[in-house]
Amino acid sequence: MALRHSLRLILLAFLWTGCSSWFTDERPQARKKKRGKSRKAHIEAKRELQAADDANAHVESNVKVELLGQAPADAPNILLISLDTLRADALPSYGGRPDNAPALTALASEGILFTNSYAQAPSTSPTHASMFTSQLPAEHGVMGTKHRLPLSHWTLAEHLQAYGYRTWATTSSVRFALGVQLNQGFSEYAVYSQGTQYEKSSSAMKVALQTIPQDPARPWFGFIHLMDVHAPYLVPEPHQSKYLTGVSSVPPEDTVRFLHQYRLDKDAVSEQQVEDLRAMYAGGVSHVDTRIAQIVAAVKALERPTVVVVTADHGEAFFEKNYLGHGAFLHEAIMRVPLIFWGPGLVPPGPPRNALAQSIDLFPTLTAYAKVPPPEGLRGENLRPVIEGNDVPSGRTVIGQAPQRSMLIRETEGGPYKLVLNGKNRKPRLYALSDDPLEQTNLARKHPELVAQLKPALTSVSFRALAKTRAQNEEQWDITDAEREALEAIGYMDAGP
Ligand SMILES: [Zn+2]
Repeated sequence: MALRHSLRLILLAFLWTGCSSWFTDERPQARKKKRGKSRKAHIEAKRELQAADDANAHVESNVKVELLGQAPADAPNILLISLDTLRADALPSYGGRPDNAPALTALASEGILFTNSYAQAPSTSPTHASMFTSQLPAEHGVMGTKHRLPLSHWTLAEHLQAYGYRTWATTSSVRFALGVQLNQGFSEYAVYSQGTQYEKSSSAMKVALQTIPQDPARPWFGFIHLMDVHAPYLVPEPHQSKYLTGVSSVPPEDTVRFLHQYRLDKDAVSEQQVEDLRAMYAGGVSHVDTRIAQIVAAVKALERPTVVVVTADHGEAFFEKNYLGHGAFLHEAIMRVPLIFWGPGLVPPGPPRNALAQSIDLFPTLTAYAKVPPPEGLRGENLRPVIEGNDVPSGRTVIGQAPQRSMLIRETEGGPYKLVLNGKNRKPRLYALSDDPLEQTNLARKHPELVAQLKPALTSVSFRALAKTRAQNEEQWDITDAEREALEAIGYMDAGP
């Protein structure tokens, strides 16, 4: 599929009625409730954008939140980088191939790495919605491909904008299409969803490298999403064949179809095919690492200090538990993601932190770095005290949610335990992750007392909320033909009308 090189520049200019109430000192949540009329206008404006039959867009929005305060003059830039589909153990710092990803290894050794960090969901838009709102998937309502983030949510970008931050984002997947409404709070927002992963990420990178040095007088919050690691595993040389021995037994251009067709059919796939898939995936990691090196070089040239966070929205399974790819299950290969904080003078280097962390922690942590108060109602926790040396296991709990199942991981004296419940029969599965990181032995019968202890915390936030989310079918993304085509190209075959 050819990339449409032309960049659609759409200026969104509409009146934000009812602005006067925004100048008060009310809390953001209360303020949002007053947005009835203007919300309607907002949705109409976004519909106009979607009507453009071009899934690549670069939008400048003048929909601004009113100031709640002002970040201090020395507030740092905040850069959140999401490397789509990057499982934690693909990186050397997490036990992956030792000669891969030198730029990410350097970031981890110069900053702070979280060894036990989890995505909130096994797919793209649910986890990103959790990063942006600090709410669980069942709470923000983005559970599957067709859901969009309701406009009633208060996002990290909106919050930082309300304290004077410039906000920008550049993304490389149709899962960030304007109709998904993940652009809330970003005054500059680019989405590239057509072409190969390489082409889409290259376009997103171009915007990132142009934007990073701009407007040095005030701090910015930037979000960069790169798709290079996601199937099809088709990346430029020398990365493509870096870890392959000979010609791949699965043609790179055929990997999306292959992953979809055999995702639940381990017996039909040879060991060589799995090995080659892993090798090509590692080549994608090698390639995206060169992009990290470029971003870090651009950030190092800035005068204003910058906190850089690298993470992922989910990983990729290679039949560790009879599943290939990502999207439905909550296996460690899919849910455990990298989390690295880096910032000279801001994030002192130190040993890896073992405390549990999750996507919803980003909002409170990054507002702490921005030196602004967090809004009320965030689900996640500020990780800054842990980053700064207080790495005491706190009995924390991680929750992960997919449409049909949910998981809970809790720190205990014997190491973290993971409970997984299937949405239909709720038959519990319990794993001791310290001894059994690939979840091969179900301990639910052996430790019914642990199941009984963990289960209520999971059911209370999951199944009731999931039922509510399913009932909210008005929050559906109105997918265009071009977007449907882009979804199919990356493996979402169920996005039909
Ligand atoms: Zn993703």
